[in-house]
Amino acid sequence: MDCLFCKIISGEIPSGKVYEDEWVYAFRDIAPQAPVHILVVPKTHIASADEISAENAVLVSRIFEVIPKIAKAEGLQNGYRVVTNVGEDGCQSVKHLHFHILGGKQLAGEMA
Ligand code: AMP
Repeated sequence: MDCLFCKIISGEIPSGKVYEDEWVYAFRDIAPQAPVHILVVPKTHIASADEISAENAVLVSRIFEVIPKIAKAEGLQNGYRVVTNVGEDGCQSVKHLHFHILGGKQLAGEMA
């Protein structure tokens, strides 16, 4: 499968890794939109949040266990935003489920 994030997870494409375990991989966004901008992905390929099911939802649960750990490690004690874009209208550019962690400044109040 020709998936950019699968290649990052396998190490074929380098990344600024900040966390890894058996199920989850997290790395710095190459084009950060905030002082802290990290992508958290399941190691298993899931195309988007639209593909979350009873069978794979445990991976999303694992991701959301990891997010507070990363936020703490990054010093985001004042808060942060977690975003996942889905499909064309959602402006999803990489078709591997990922959650953006954005923080390190006061974020915009509007989300769309
Ligand atoms: P989205 O637009 O929600 O699909 O988010 C994809 C994100 O992946 C964007 O914020 C990109 O900047 C980021 N991105 C694309 N290529 C890379 C890469 N090689 N390493 C790190 N982040 C990347």
